[in-house]
Amino acid sequence: MTDRRRRPVRRATTLLAALLVVALAAAAPVLVGPALLGPGGAAQAATTFRSPLKAETFYTSSMYGPRCLPVANASAWHPAIDLEAQNKAPIYAVVGGTVTHAVNPKNGNAGYVMVKSSVGGVRYDVVYVHMAKATQYVRAGKKVKAGQRIALVGSSGPATSPNLHLEVWKGGYGKTHINPSTWLGAHGVSIARARIFDQGVRTPTSCTYYVTASRLNIRSGPSTGYRVLKTVSRNTKMISKPGKKTNNFVPVTVGSTKGWASAAYVSPTKVGSSGTTKVTYVVTHDTWMRTGPSTGYKHVKAVRKGTRITVVYAHIKHSRDVSVGGKRGFLLDTRLRRA
Ligand SMILES: [Zn+2]
Repeated sequence: MTDRRRRPVRRATTLLAALLVVALAAAAPVLVGPALLGPGGAAQAATTFRSPLKAETFYTSSMYGPRCLPVANASAWHPAIDLEAQNKAPIYAVVGGTVTHAVNPKNGNAGYVMVKSSVGGVRYDVVYVHMAKATQYVRAGKKVKAGQRIALVGSSGPATSPNLHLEVWKGGYGKTHINPSTWLGAHGVSIARARIFDQGVRTPTSCTYYVTASRLNIRSGPSTGYRVLKTVSRNTKMISKPGKKTNNFVPVTVGSTKGWASAAYVSPTKVGSSGTTKVTYVVTHDTWMRTGPSTGYKHVKAVRKGTRITVVYAHIKHSRDVSVGGKRGFLLDTRLRRA
């Protein structure tokens, strides 16, 4: 059975589940006892939750927990989930609340929107990151409802491709970050069911980084105040650990030297002489660009033999996540050769 055939069934199940949730929520005040009644005897309204992106238009690339840096300056402990989507896809508020921040990208920092909510009497701040224009639809002080469009997906700040980085803070921003996927799941929004697929990156036991600067100092501690143990050149391989970053320095082992390297000059892949990843592919046969990394996924557009591919976001399951003529999608490795 192909993925395509399975999808409608899955969608029907999801719809049924959603209807059940709605039915149960509607029935709840009648069924429950005084435990859920407020001081005045009124039942607390059930809080509505919605998916942050339209179902089956995104995939997950990084889940909550320790990771290797996917790009220079990224966080090593990922307090969020990353949902890869088309650039400018609408982002919806997962829960209603008040916008506390709508901040546009500046000086290399990502644009973001933060919404303050109360769920079961507890404060939660939900942060939506990487949009190109955070103030397009909302401003600080504005009230938003669950499911309301609040921004469009972008790739501002440290990001390898357009994605929504979603953080949830219990007790308010800066208190305790929690797993957004688990939290949404507990409120009836399953990221696992809504995504097209998971890129399936498990936390590795070690991280491999390459130096992007022409020369980089390996120091004895995590700041420029520590002494230089060794100076290495571009594309030198460094071994590090997932989840480890202090003061924007990562602990590294280079040959027999153990020290610290600035996270501003590391890349998970080798780089070209300009310091950016540069790969060009040529399409070898007329083919389809699809929404996911196998022939079971829907067509995005036809791609002709001889088309040159210069924008490659990721390599996933024998295919590449690419951009062709402004459209994003997947091409099978068997239809590509290096230029
Ligand atoms: Zn992220």
